Amino acid sequence: MRTSLKENYFEQVWKGISTTLIGMRVTFGHLFKPAVTLQYPHERWTMPERARVRIGMTYSECTGCGACARACPVDAISIETLKAQQDEDLGTTKDGTKKRLHVLKFDVDNAKCIYCGLCIPPCPTGAIHFVPDYEAMQLTRRNLIYHFTILSATEIESIRQRDREAKARAAAAKPKAPETTLMNPSPPQPSES
Ligand code: SF4
Ligand code: SF4
Repeated sequence: MRTSLKENYFEQVWKGISTTLIGMRVTFGHLFKPAVTLQYPHERWTMPERARVRIGMTYSECTGCGACARACPVDAISIETLKAQQDEDLGTTKDGTKKRLHVLKFDVDNAKCIYCGLCIPPCPTGAIHFVPDYEAMQLTRRNLIYHFTILSATEIESIRQRDREAKARAAAAKPKAPETTLMNPSPPQPSES
């Protein structure tokens, strides 16, 4: 009886050691291999050149043509523009395209974006593109809307005001249509019964 207990004890000890060693076999196997993980956030992945991570936009290159917004299948891009006044020079893009529109609003809703890339090819100036920034976590959906305009609220209001004034001047300068006299319609004739 005593021998049997002793044997059982050593058997259990051996089982414990052997199962631990088997369990650690995978760990030992990786111990001397190069690490495949990164020590984030101290280290970061370099994204492939054509990675579809997040939509970016170079404001100075945008003409406000709206081709990207029209191509987007989920309406993730919303743009608002106003024509520049005749005496305003908005400059050109890098490829020499003259800018004729103030881009008051250029928003991309990343909560809607499906990263299809359909907005990129129609852009005539290459202003819209993917950026390899994958750290785009936000706590609210509202914060996933990226605003790309660089105009301040005051600048936007001043552009709107100039536009309103120009429209009012144009309306005042328009020749008025000649006044027409409305004829009184003839009174209804009593019907014969
Ligand atoms: S990548 Fe696709 S879904 Fe996203 S903004 Fe461009 S067209 Fe729209
Ligand atoms: S297609 Fe290009 S230039 Fe036209 S509004 Fe979009 S980003 Fe701007």
